[in-house]
Amino acid sequence: MNDSLPEFYCPYSDECYECCLDTEMTISISDVKRIEESGYNRSEFLKEKEGFLVLQNIKGHCYFLKDKRCSIYKVRPQGCRFYPLIYDFDVEEILIDELCANHTKFDVDDYDSISEDVIIYVNEIMAEKEMRLKKKERKK
Ligand code: SF4
Ligand code: SF4
Repeated sequence: MNDSLPEFYCPYSDECYECCLDTEMTISISDVKRIEESGYNRSEFLKEKEGFLVLQNIKGHCYFLKDKRCSIYKVRPQGCRFYPLIYDFDVEEILIDELCANHTKFDVDDYDSISEDVIIYVNEIMAEKEMRLKKKERKK
């Protein structure tokens, strides 16, 4: 984690915060723990959606977007760090999200170095979701 970064930093735009609007970022248990260690309680920012853990959206933006800035920048979820790289479950591929206002600045081939990390993260999230759904099934 780079402590010298400002509270919010998008390497592609100083002013954009589009990816924090109308979003329910899917996150992992380790993301939740890291955010809680910084002083938040999961009951205020987390919800479950179809077995996945997601950040709550309030008034059209992510719970943690404050004054157009990410208020948990240093401990933000891994998925926010990877964005605009996303994993498309339909085609099972890592893609650049065209919803990113600056997506044309990217070439997915430039991201070989972190592609493996994206896959590891996606697998972690999928495994946690399966575990959660199985647990629920057992309780029925
Ligand atoms: S955690 Fe921060 S970077 Fe991620 S969606 Fe929310 S406000 Fe944006
Ligand atoms: S939408 Fe793209 S350009 Fe805008 S803040 Fe997110 S990553 Fe940066």
